[in-house]
Amino acid sequence: MTGPGDDGDAGSDYLDGNAAAGPLSEVFAVDVTVASGRCAHCGRTGELATARVYPNSHGLLLRCPGCAEILLRLVDTGHSLAVDLHGMSYLELQRDAPGSQQKPSPAA
Ligand SMILES: [Zn+2]
Repeated sequence: MTGPGDDGDAGSDYLDGNAAAGPLSEVFAVDVTVASGRCAHCGRTGELATARVYPNSHGLLLRCPGCAEILLRLVDTGHSLAVDLHGMSYLELQRDAPGSQQKPSPAA
């Protein structure tokens, strides 16, 4: 069971990883939910959109769908945003990924 201020647990009251796109767009200039990351705990690799999102009163927790360990913490204090990525051994963003906004639109 989770409650306000709780870090969340591996229960079933989570959202799809795409729910993190809006809050994370405040930190990253690209949509990192399409980025591929590796879980530092079990080694599972997948898009952040496949993670389980646990919103709480401080921000978001993203947990690995393979082992339920924490991949990413986003803490919003109101005047600052902090991201803890220590649960991932890497995060890879493709330059041509949808939402990367690195290239101008060909249709001018
Ligand atoms: Zn894992």
